Amino acid sequence: MTKILFVTSEAHPLIKTGGLADVCGSLPKALADLHQDIRLIMPNYNALKTNGHVRYVCSIRVDNREVNILETQLPDSNVLVWLVDCAEFFNLPGNPYTDENGEPWANNAVRFALLCRVAVECAMNRIHQDWQPDIVHCNDWQTGLVPALLSLETNYPASVFTIHNLAYQGLFPSHTVAELHLPGQLWHADGLEFNNMLSFIKGGLVYANKITTVSPTYALEIQTPEFGYGLEGLLTFRQDDLIGIINGIDMEQWNPELDSMINPNFNAATLNKKQLNKTKLQKKLTLPVDAQIPMIALISRLVEQKGIDMVIECLPEIMTHSVQFVLLGAGDKAFEQALQGFADNYPNKIAIIIGYDEALAHVIEASADIFLMPSRFEPCGLNQMYSQRYGTIPIVRKTGGLADTVIDASPETITHGTATGVVFNEANAGSMMEAVKRALLLYTLPTAWHRMQMDGMQKDFSWQRSAENYLQLYQSI
Ligand code: ADP
Repeated sequence: MTKILFVTSEAHPLIKTGGLADVCGSLPKALADLHQDIRLIMPNYNALKTNGHVRYVCSIRVDNREVNILETQLPDSNVLVWLVDCAEFFNLPGNPYTDENGEPWANNAVRFALLCRVAVECAMNRIHQDWQPDIVHCNDWQTGLVPALLSLETNYPASVFTIHNLAYQGLFPSHTVAELHLPGQLWHADGLEFNNMLSFIKGGLVYANKITTVSPTYALEIQTPEFGYGLEGLLTFRQDDLIGIINGIDMEQWNPELDSMINPNFNAATLNKKQLNKTKLQKKLTLPVDAQIPMIALISRLVEQKGIDMVIECLPEIMTHSVQFVLLGAGDKAFEQALQGFADNYPNKIAIIIGYDEALAHVIEASADIFLMPSRFEPCGLNQMYSQRYGTIPIVRKTGGLADTVIDASPETITHGTATGVVFNEANAGSMMEAVKRALLLYTLPTAWHRMQMDGMQKDFSWQRSAENYLQLYQSI
């Protein structure tokens, strides 16, 4: 049995801002199911949704600050979660990274450095729990200082650092190094320095024993200038320690047969019931109720990474077709306003819901015919997998995890029963529009469409396979 300390800034269902939380809520459970001794550590945010059972563990002093460590469990599991309790940093409104106005917390460096320092205390068995991990598994920049700080210890556990999205690196002005009381020996070009900035993520990329990222294609892409943000040299240097492991999805939460947020439930054998979800959603969104009209959906953070600008560019042409377009998302105000403008102009064809709504996300997946995910880059992506499970055909760009999880429809792949979506190559509106048209054409071919739905619904996206890959990696160190 391997002992694993899993360090993260968010984990579903305790708190979630994006896909990172989905992974950090699911992978630990899957590792526990493989009989591994895994514990999480994360900040005690005021918005944390625990099941009420929170226990005081101890108080420790780190970097001249008194911090409590509390303990709870990942809901619906036996996985223990240590909470770093520091009211000044974490008991705040807003989300884990930004204030109520969406601005990054000004003290993010200090906040997450504290998480890292407490994680190191736990990893070094200095919190009186008689538990020392074999592996410390860190996730994204917020935890990047852990491998760096561990490297200063003696007899320290091995570390794995997972890149969920290289676009977020935790870069801070160089004077932050002194503010965080980081030892000078970490501050150099082969350490935490990046263009005279302090880079949290480099702590993971330089000092962790192994680096993983969330799909094999993204592991290759980040070694190129287009996706590497200047870190491609370092990642290429570390290529022997860098592997891509595709994320699973939570097969219980995202199961159309049992999903309590949708009505009626359905499975591959009762796929005809999917339409009832669609007509209910049409009513709810005051769109014309019509089971035949193809409904294209998009659920996403509204940021450039997700290709929202391309969607906006294509919407006028999409509107020339007989379709409905449903979008749930929040993010850049300019995108929100542009999309809202389209909804005002096409009230019978477009419904835009600005906000974050987990339940509605399930309903949309259950209702839509087509799911659009034209990301410029996508480390793994989850919605294209949820879509396949719900019989909703994804249109994706051939990048990262999208390339690894969706098989493009062609006469051959449809015949062989492998096609599960429509894939396009170039990150531009023209290429995306061609894919939309191709999907709409396929929609008019019921046999091919049904075949693709069935093939997608039967794919194994479970965490078990991914967890086995992580376990193999831990054991290889
Ligand atoms: P990322 O982590 O880059 O945002 P992913 O596809 O990996 O993208 O994961 C996004 C997750 O967040 C998915 O579970 C998706 O359904 C969810 N999500 C994104 N935006 C919203 C929203 N506005 N409402 C509900 N769920 C959302």
